[in-house]
Amino acid sequence: MIVGAGFGGIAAAIELRDHGFQDITILDRAPGLGGTWLHNSYPGSACDVPSHLYSFSFAQRRDWSRLCSPQDEILDYLHGVARDHGIDRLVVPGSTVTATTWDDEARRWTVTTEEGPAYEADAVILATGQLHQPAFPRIEGSDSFEGHRFHSARWDHDYDLRGKRVAVIGTGASAVQFVPEIAKEVARLTVFQRSGNWFLPRKNRPYPPPIKALIQHVPGLQALRRKRVYYTGELLTTGIRHTRSVGRLLALWSRAFMRAQLKDPDVRRQATPDYTFGCKRVLFSSAFLPALQRDNVELVTDAVTGLAPTGVVTADGTLHEVDCVIYGTGFRTNDFMFPMQVTGAGGRELKDEWAAGAHAHLGIAVPGFPSMFVMYGPNTNTSGGSIIVYLEAQARYIRQALAQVRNRRAQAIDVRPEVETASDREVQSRFAGTAWTACDSWYRTDDGRIVANWPGYMREYEARTRALDPAHFEFIAAAAATTSEPEPTTRSQPHA
Ligand code: NAP
Repeated sequence: MIVGAGFGGIAAAIELRDHGFQDITILDRAPGLGGTWLHNSYPGSACDVPSHLYSFSFAQRRDWSRLCSPQDEILDYLHGVARDHGIDRLVVPGSTVTATTWDDEARRWTVTTEEGPAYEADAVILATGQLHQPAFPRIEGSDSFEGHRFHSARWDHDYDLRGKRVAVIGTGASAVQFVPEIAKEVARLTVFQRSGNWFLPRKNRPYPPPIKALIQHVPGLQALRRKRVYYTGELLTTGIRHTRSVGRLLALWSRAFMRAQLKDPDVRRQATPDYTFGCKRVLFSSAFLPALQRDNVELVTDAVTGLAPTGVVTADGTLHEVDCVIYGTGFRTNDFMFPMQVTGAGGRELKDEWAAGAHAHLGIAVPGFPSMFVMYGPNTNTSGGSIIVYLEAQARYIRQALAQVRNRRAQAIDVRPEVETASDREVQSRFAGTAWTACDSWYRTDDGRIVANWPGYMREYEARTRALDPAHFEFIAAAAATTSEPEPTTRSQPHA
């Protein structure tokens, strides 16, 4: 049973099908597959990682329209890949998983949905990711606001922004994509920034026909470009890991780029970040900073203290009158799959296990939760690379785990607690001295523990997940092992 039909869930399903696991169901609460690329349909929504790396290694396309593809193209791609591998038929949309519970006697999982059906499964893959629950900051008086409001991840396409006075709260990776787009059509745009960002250039114009032809027809060119982007991502990670050397050089580049873009001295002062390069996500945009300097756009850096019936109130007491508030305030990243109730062996609750911050072996396996796997789990986010690389690595690792179960005629696999503790300790120790520890961000819990990011390079994560070591795991025999030995599968049968 796979929960989540985004890139992660699709990657896992393909990997498992390719290795003989046939009985797979993918549940997703959305009306279709696509995950983040279904939900984030805001104007300008696109990937900021070049598409030849932000795509499966086994399903490379040569006809992307530009370097970083727009949302609809990525969604089409994912549909196409799922169709080509017969995975689209496995998706049960409109299925909101509320609980997944390990039965110590039956030694299987029961997956319960809000809509009614429950499923039994030998293995559960939670591929809900880190970025799927929109975060609405607690702002006093929010309910008193009489205008319209929505979150960037649930864009209201029925609301016509043309000619409106609009507030945008937040200036993260999503806002920097939609602000330049909506700035062209709204009457007035007020952008509320809590922290400045480090920017690097990204023009992302459609490929001219000769470039398209080269990519299409020159053998190996696409693979070469993929490799180049891969190592550019690794360089960014080097900058984050080594703040005084490579990090300083990248910061200089960013500063020079931002200076060139920010002609207005006031906006320049306001938009310039005051924290170490790479501590928060570095933003790739050549359009956002110019948009801030449009006549109809104002950047406000006073803290938002409340909403009033007619607008947004800031710490200096100003009421900024607007018709609409758009929250570009990101996601409840530390919640991972919660509020889903995840109950493992002996009735232990994942919520309790993770009370001091989420942790899992390689971000995938949690002791006491047999044959449960997390994709894009704790400490597997990347600040300098493509999450698809990580998801493919996780899919391979999970497939190896289930193959071990199958080959040993066992029922389930459970990571040894001491293995998980040691790997978590090592992961956490590797953050010391890196940019990630230099400021608050969505990568961290309130206590400062970094739970989102992998502390190293893509190539390290790939290497560590390449070959599963069975000695890291305990194998659980089937409940009726003494009398019969049924072959384990990822069976997922509705039983309601
Ligand atoms: P985000 O990066 O978490 O940005 C949220 C923004 O809202 C930040 O500027 C934050 O300020 C601000 N904010 C939060 N609470 C606030 C409050 N109470 N008052 C004022 N401002 C507040 O969220 P996102 O832009 O949706 O991006 C989330 C992640 O999604 C990204 O980091 C990235 O991994 C992914 N993403 C990727 C792409 C892509 O192209 N690949 C595109 C979009 C998003 P602070 O900085 O001060 O916290």
